[in-house]
Amino acid sequence: MIIDTHTHLYDEAFDGDRRQVVDAAVEAGVEVLLLPAIDSSSHRALLTMADDYPGRCLPMMGLHPTSVNDNPHWQTELELVENHLRRATRRFCAIGEVGLDMHWSAEWADRQIEVFRHQVALALELDLPLVIHTRDCWPLMISILNDYRGCGLRGVMHAFSGTVEDYAAVKTCGDFVFGVGGVATYKNSLISRILPQIALEDIVLESDAPYLAPTPMRGQRNQSAWVATICCHVAQIMNLPRELVERQTTANARRMFAIE
Ligand SMILES: [Zn+2]
Repeated sequence: MIIDTHTHLYDEAFDGDRRQVVDAAVEAGVEVLLLPAIDSSSHRALLTMADDYPGRCLPMMGLHPTSVNDNPHWQTELELVENHLRRATRRFCAIGEVGLDMHWSAEWADRQIEVFRHQVALALELDLPLVIHTRDCWPLMISILNDYRGCGLRGVMHAFSGTVEDYAAVKTCGDFVFGVGGVATYKNSLISRILPQIALEDIVLESDAPYLAPTPMRGQRNQSAWVATICCHVAQIMNLPRELVERQTTANARRMFAIE
């Protein structure tokens, strides 16, 4: 049994065949699907999907860094996230996805950092794991995480794209595991090269559907079923039995997200 720790199946890309996509995932052995939030434009779709598939689709709640940027309503968005998390009516398996994204522009860095730190504080207070998106700013992310060293921070570095040194540095900041997805199947990607140096106990699998489909489906709409393909690639790259990779990454995800 595989857990897809990061999938946006509530995205409108799946409006035409969502049920078939969930069925295909289950058929492929990908039986638990974790849904990260982006912003309020998709909260309804996210929560509806979680309600439609209890125990199968588990929701997160958080504000994505690219939804902060030039959004005039970023403070309202952050309040909404906090209200959802504090309301005791629904269990969220993590605060995500949150983080820093300097790929498009560094213009909004200060605002992104403020929003990220606010959600880190919430994670510590509410004792929840974080699901952290980091794009084109690994030194900055690590310097921020360093401020929380010894505080009991935990979570997933989603779509990990850092170096072996970044991996080691993040591990000193808290209890972190590293999300590995389709990019690991791309020839010469950094993650495919450093994977043999990452401990299996530190890895969780993810699709990031509808994005980042694995080889040989690269470029197509990604789906959770293909995490089974990713699992095979990871096993090959790490030179480990596929069953072991499946068992250990699932155990890692269960532990991090408190899934029974
Ligand atoms: Zn995502």
